[in-house]
Amino acid sequence: MPNSEGVVLRRAKIVTPHGIVKSGYVAVVRGRIAGVGEEPYRSGEGLDEIDLGGLTVGPGFIDTHTHGALGVDLSRASAGEIARLAEALPRFGVTSFVPTSVSLPREDLVRFCRSVLEASRSAGGSRILGAHLEGPFLNPEMAGAQNPEHMRPADVAELEELVRASGALVRSVTVAPEVEGAMELVRRAATMGIVVQIGHTKATYSKTLEALNSGASKATHLYNAMSGFHHRSPGAALALLRAGGTYLELIVDFVHVVPEVVDFTIDYAGHRRVVLVTDSTAAAGLPDGTYELGDARIEVVGGVARLAGRETLAGSTLTMDRAFRNVLSLGYGLEHAFRMASTTPAESLGLALELGAVAPGRRADLVVLGDAMDIAATFVEGRLVYAREGFAGSTVRG
Ligand SMILES: [Zn+2]
Repeated sequence: MPNSEGVVLRRAKIVTPHGIVKSGYVAVVRGRIAGVGEEPYRSGEGLDEIDLGGLTVGPGFIDTHTHGALGVDLSRASAGEIARLAEALPRFGVTSFVPTSVSLPREDLVRFCRSVLEASRSAGGSRILGAHLEGPFLNPEMAGAQNPEHMRPADVAELEELVRASGALVRSVTVAPEVEGAMELVRRAATMGIVVQIGHTKATYSKTLEALNSGASKATHLYNAMSGFHHRSPGAALALLRAGGTYLELIVDFVHVVPEVVDFTIDYAGHRRVVLVTDSTAAAGLPDGTYELGDARIEVVGGVARLAGRETLAGSTLTMDRAFRNVLSLGYGLEHAFRMASTTPAESLGLALELGAVAPGRRADLVVLGDAMDIAATFVEGRLVYAREGFAGSTVRG
């Protein structure tokens, strides 16, 4: 491993915010990107060098909505388990993620927030960006795979307690605008700097707009578990789509949203608004079988997760690298795919100056793709945190 104060990734195809550099370098000093340019790189700074032999480099993926993977159910996980997942996620190209809860009793959510805080202090690998509370202030009639019994009216005092328990690490909260007290909570959360997302909702078009005007800024898995649009009764989905500037989570596994609608959404809203998320459960990255999601049991058959014995989709088994490749399969280019897997997610959390682009000053969170758009290697702050077997770049000259 490099032991100087930095590293240069050389001879790479680099996806930057200003276009693709066909054969270039990325210089990293003290964890941040110090320079990006075309070869030849003029050495002299004493940095270690990694020759990528033409592989593609882009910003590491940022998953702003995941309930777990690889057997870890984040809602119930200990700090140690969350940290273990953080170490493992780079194999999917994920360099930052937001552990996401389901609706749970208050004391369980307090424990979740404490665990995320503790894990964020110790974890290596993928960076923990805070907690996403996907519940409990949701509409029980739109519970999806969550337990409707744990959903309750919006309660500012409860949110404040959770924020305290998390050490102010609550990054996002999903709210259904029609539940009692929702608008007050939306306003309070927004003033606390928390990203307010709209989801698990039967809200009308106008109620959804009211929440957006009160400070909400993002849709939680657009289309799934929300009022869809009917031509005489436009619901939350259409309001969220049409409200320019609103970020839109999309689960691009082609099961939660079919390819035609994914394509329409990107086409209509653009890559500057669409945020690829996994909404993954403990089953992601593992074979078919039975797993847990909060206090529910889910069955995975053919890679599709459903509540045990029912048709209801229960999160996904999606990983960010697959979501990324699915977008490419629709004919979108690398620049747009990286935008939706990294840059736009960072922007949606207000972190665009730190993360989500291969550009000077940003943290050097990078993913290296093989020829099949598979994950060849992953760097967090310039540190190699994952390399697949035979990764050519592992030949380091120092
Ligand atoms: Zn979710």
